[in-house]
Amino acid sequence: MKYISTRGKAPALNFEDVLLTGLASDGGLYIPETLPTFDKETIDGFKSLSYQELAFVIIKPFVDGAIADDELKNIIDESYSEFRHPAIAPLVQLDTNEWLLELFHGPTLAFKDFALQLLGRLLDAILKKKQQKVVIMGATSGDTGSAAIEGCSHSEYVDIFILHPHNKVSEVQRRQMTTCASPHVHNIAVEGNFDDCQSMVKQSFADQSFLPEGKRLVAVNSINWARIMAQIVYYFYAASRLGAPYREIGFSVPTGNFGDIFAGYIAKKMGLPINQLIVATNKNDILHRVLANNLYEKHPLEHTLSPSMDIMVSSNFERLLFDLFDKDGEALAAFMDKCNNESVQLPEKAFATARELFDSLAVDDDATCETIAKVYDESEYLLDPHTAIGVKAAREVRRSHDLPMVTLATAHPAKFSDAIEKVNLATPKLPHHMAHIMTDRERYTVLENDLSAVQAFIQKHS
Ligand SMILES: *Cc1c(COP(=O)(O)O)cnc(C)c1O
Repeated sequence: MKYISTRGKAPALNFEDVLLTGLASDGGLYIPETLPTFDKETIDGFKSLSYQELAFVIIKPFVDGAIADDELKNIIDESYSEFRHPAIAPLVQLDTNEWLLELFHGPTLAFKDFALQLLGRLLDAILKKKQQKVVIMGATSGDTGSAAIEGCSHSEYVDIFILHPHNKVSEVQRRQMTTCASPHVHNIAVEGNFDDCQSMVKQSFADQSFLPEGKRLVAVNSINWARIMAQIVYYFYAASRLGAPYREIGFSVPTGNFGDIFAGYIAKKMGLPINQLIVATNKNDILHRVLANNLYEKHPLEHTLSPSMDIMVSSNFERLLFDLFDKDGEALAAFMDKCNNESVQLPEKAFATARELFDSLAVDDDATCETIAKVYDESEYLLDPHTAIGVKAAREVRRSHDLPMVTLATAHPAKFSDAIEKVNLATPKLPHHMAHIMTDRERYTVLENDLSAVQAFIQKHS
């Protein structure tokens, strides 16, 4: 399988190389040139597979022989052995035809574990084969950093540097990262905000000359295709339990960078009968604004009770735009350039297609809290604030009440207790397997908000 850039100019890559890359050299994102598809009979067979067995079937065509089948099976088994629920991604019913897909039973209690547990092990396998070492660099406001550290810390071929804004992530989130004892893990607390961290990562990817000879940077954010790939699996898993391929299923997805919902869109293109995909955003609603009014326009960042969705632009939206622009990389590159500086509109046809494919809703903090309180009142089920946004959107904009609607439950409520306390519910306890982080020794280095200081640190420690 070949992977091509959304902007049409960078060379096509195979799976090995796409795994080891960030952005394409033309500034685009990599996507598969063609997708594997599954017919009805095959999808019908999915209902009797375990999560791990299904993951192998879905992922194999994307890996395309870069890793032998037996090894890939082992990698998948190991990746999901750290999950604390035997179903890996259990479905929970809220009401008739209303479901939650719990994606928070992994080691860091958020859905990012699904992709990053796998990514770390895929990297290890490929790098071992190549006898090559790489440097992972990422910025985090919380979830990505801890999931990346948990997923990659056991790799001998990876040094991992995660930047977080000093004193601006919650204690639980910081401790999840800083209590990792691996000598390959380096937490850098930058005396700045998340945007400062992210901009240093971007600049470092653009010019990697600060790295020791022979090293390269690997991305762990959702511009890395392998993350999207891993997330396609749970759409098939949930839908095949709820009647696919003989019944259509809807999904509501709490969205920030458009990664998770893009995986749902790919699942649909691979043959899964999805009747509706709902983009659920918080007040950082660029995606809702473009889908509702065809106005793609950056607004300043708002801090919300659902911090993992606090973004100004959604990088993976470019992957959808590539399809909406009929795979015309040049036209898309021009569009992306333009929207850096001004508000833009999608071409009429692209907008119409986007509206057919997606519905959307923006949910503010008050409505998030109301939804947490309401669902708790109905069934004593405690939603985390990100998931609450998905549930609210599902209830407001679903197209059919006769078909199952599944909201992706992206985080465990104990991780985001601010919202829970706001509605006067008792803060849930961290699961006991995580309690140790509150007392373990922390390791992190505070650095000034300065690119050369950060790069010098990385150079010294990689
Ligand atoms: C990262 C994250 C999201 C947003 O996911 P995207 O793939 O960026 O859309 C939603 N909820 C939680 C809890 C997250 O950690």
